[in-house]
Amino acid sequence: MSFCCGASMIGTKGNIRHLRTQIHNVPILFCPVCHRIEVHHLVEDEYEILAEYAHCDGAAEVDFEDYSNAPANDALFENCVNHENEDPLALVTNQIDMALDLLCVAKELHDPEWEHQLKNRLTIMSARKDKLQRKKTMGRY
Ligand SMILES: [Zn+2]
Repeated sequence: MSFCCGASMIGTKGNIRHLRTQIHNVPILFCPVCHRIEVHHLVEDEYEILAEYAHCDGAAEVDFEDYSNAPANDALFENCVNHENEDPLALVTNQIDMALDLLCVAKELHDPEWEHQLKNRLTIMSARKDKLQRKKTMGRY
């Protein structure tokens, strides 16, 4: 678990700008309180190597996933977010909150593509939440 401002940081993937290079799909941790972003500690070295390489190469854009040997998402973010034994409604509410926080980050980073993805995710999750809420009112879970 990583902490910042006393809050646990959220694990996600984001686009990071390194000098003139935009690096996509970097595993990052994001603080919901102060909106600080840091590269996930497990991929820090890889990130730095790629950033340096992309910069020397003069690349405007690279995709971290194309170069990385990093473990799959789940393993990477296991410690960041607790998915265990959670009520499905609480879980989806939590995910919506996170997506909203990330939307702020996407806006701050001027990343319309990411913003768009997050908005899509929010639409899907809101629908799921409605469904769960209806089930709950009907006493079926
Ligand atoms: Zn913070």
